[in-house]
Amino acid sequence: MDLVQIDVLYNRDDIKNKVQMLGKKISEDYAGCELLVVGILKGAFIFMADLVREITVPLEIDFMDVTSYGLSTSSSGEVRIIKDLEYSVQDKDVLIIEDIVDTGLTLKHITEILKTRNPKSIKICCLLDKPSRRKANITADYVGYSIPDRFVVGYGLDYAEQYRNYPEVCIIKPFKAADPQ
Ligand code: 5GP
Repeated sequence: MDLVQIDVLYNRDDIKNKVQMLGKKISEDYAGCELLVVGILKGAFIFMADLVREITVPLEIDFMDVTSYGLSTSSSGEVRIIKDLEYSVQDKDVLIIEDIVDTGLTLKHITEILKTRNPKSIKICCLLDKPSRRKANITADYVGYSIPDRFVVGYGLDYAEQYRNYPEVCIIKPFKAADPQ
């Protein structure tokens, strides 16, 4: 693997506090409701595991896995469902959990698919948001951190399937030996 430089952007305490705040807000907003929490694999798995333990309203969980068509490293916007939901979303309050919203094309497609299945409501919660990269008209209802256009890994997010297990959210970049530190 190429040499990379990894800098911590948000540490364990930052993330813990942020997830607690998000869970509290979601619990308040959905008081008296029952939620269907939909995690988008694989990147959301750690965030979702922590977040649902901070949500106090009754909830069910389900997962969806999608992939972008095409060979480009950036999202093409055309997504193919690799793993569909197990449960019906009909008449349910659906909360989609995503690791990061970048162009927004993936979530646009997912919400369009789920809307055809007649949920009572759909909202989006993401840990990270890169608004400067947006191509689709997607706004998450709950956002942990709004970040600049940098590639991040850790806390579920990968680079070539590595680093998902890092407990921090980190910025990763190719390491050049001549770079001043
Ligand atoms: P979008 O359709 O919003 O452009 O793509 C969202 C997906 O792209 C995310 O779920 C994630 O898998 C991937 N992605 C976008 N930005 C990053 C990033 O900075 N780091 C990582 N690891 N994945 C990213």
